Amino acid sequence: MAEYSVFSLLRNAFSASPDWKPAWRKPDPKPEYDVVIVGGGGHGLSTAYYLAKEHGITNVAVVERGWLGQGNIGRNTTMIRSNYLLPKNQHFYEHSMKLWENLSHELNYNVMFSQRGCLNLANSPGQLDDFARRGNAMRHVGIDAELMTPLEIKSLVPALDLNFGGRFPVYGGLMQRRAGTARHDAVAWGYARGADRRGVDMLENCEVTGFLRDGDRIIGVQTTRGEIRAKKVAVAVAGHTGQLMKMAGVDRLPIESHVLQAFVSEGLKPFMDTVVTFGAGHLYVTQSDKGGMVFGGDIDGYNTYAQRGNLPIVEDVMSELAAMFPGLSRVRLLRSWGGIMDMSMDGSPIITAGPLPGMYLNTGWCYGGFKATPASGWCFAWTIARDEPHPYNAAYTLDRFHRGLVIDEKGQGSTPRLH
Ligand SMILES: Cc1cc2nc3c(=O)[nH]c(=O)nc-3n(C[C@H](O)[C@H](O)[C@H](O)COP(=O)(O)OP(=O)(O)OC[C@H]3O[C@@H](n4cnc5c(N)ncnc54)[C@H](O)[C@@H]3O)c2cc1C
Repeated sequence: MAEYSVFSLLRNAFSASPDWKPAWRKPDPKPEYDVVIVGGGGHGLSTAYYLAKEHGITNVAVVERGWLGQGNIGRNTTMIRSNYLLPKNQHFYEHSMKLWENLSHELNYNVMFSQRGCLNLANSPGQLDDFARRGNAMRHVGIDAELMTPLEIKSLVPALDLNFGGRFPVYGGLMQRRAGTARHDAVAWGYARGADRRGVDMLENCEVTGFLRDGDRIIGVQTTRGEIRAKKVAVAVAGHTGQLMKMAGVDRLPIESHVLQAFVSEGLKPFMDTVVTFGAGHLYVTQSDKGGMVFGGDIDGYNTYAQRGNLPIVEDVMSELAAMFPGLSRVRLLRSWGGIMDMSMDGSPIITAGPLPGMYLNTGWCYGGFKATPASGWCFAWTIARDEPHPYNAAYTLDRFHRGLVIDEKGQGSTPRLH
């Protein structure tokens, strides 16, 4: 497949019969693969790519019930950061950040990774103390972090009302300058193309409806395009993990499915070149390259598989945005949508072998799986290829909830509603 470059762009632009090839093939399923990955979202696709690239395992199929990237990978607000407190999360997310920094080059696909920074606002003295602790913990392991004063914040984001209408004054903030955003669809397409180039089959419109078993062992999948056998079956279906695991006879998981909404406004002139978050109320906002304000808040708070939410959260999120940026209160909302989140009980993910022999599980991403896409696939591929976790994902086990080894980044206790 052709390399993308300025020269190929020019050649095709001026050619009478341009030579644009599809970015990936549309093969028919083979009867058997070494690895079948269920779920053509960001994590399934990056897993396929790293299996082929890092481990030379290319007899792989990604099985997706719709089209590649139809799920959360194409629905998120695209924020990327590695500003974590707990060492078990720090190393994993910083590994992801380093993969992001070279991703466009590595994939030969522009994922538009923009390190515009992520500023977490502190709206109480206690929250500022907490951010100072987190920033110190980050710097201690070599991750960039900067504590900002209200004056510095005002000069960075002049449109922000530092008083939040008098109710939530800003006491300072924690900035990670290497954080930012990326073009989410391009991430899915870039990984798909990269995996396809190495021989991985992308099987779209191919829904998994059951698992093939030999006793306890999983030996393949039943799909709407026939049975496919596999030496290893890896599941990366985000909010649909419960449904898939039920098909395999695993009834209880530390995961709940919730809808998370996101919003984009009409386009505005550029006025904010960083990501800003208001943790005390829960709102995160950035301005897209097209000028629209892209933002979101809390999950709707009830279990569902519907990819749209309800009005109370819309009202909640809009009022928070208007409190932060009063100048935006009359801006029109262009679109809103939802995605099904795989909320874990401690807010941290699961990347592990099991829960049945021959099966591997990747889930529990809560609000933060987009930024994890490179490291998630990298670690999951390692786990599948070597049948043992990499140190970066060694703590992301399924049985940590039985053993009391939860990774509770926010210190909020075991409930999906809070993460
Ligand atoms: C509104 C919203 C905003 C978000 N904002 C951010 C953010 O700013 N930063 C961040 O880091 N994260 C964010 N996230 C979270 C992030 O998008 C997800 O955690 C991450 O994308 C999940 O992994 P994935 O990409 O593999 O999931 P998905 O893209 O959902 O992939 C799962 C795939 O599995 C497929 N599937 C399901 N069932 C079957 C089946 N039976 N057979 C075959 N295929 C099946 C689905 O069709 C889907 O394509 C956000 C999520 C949402 C919804």
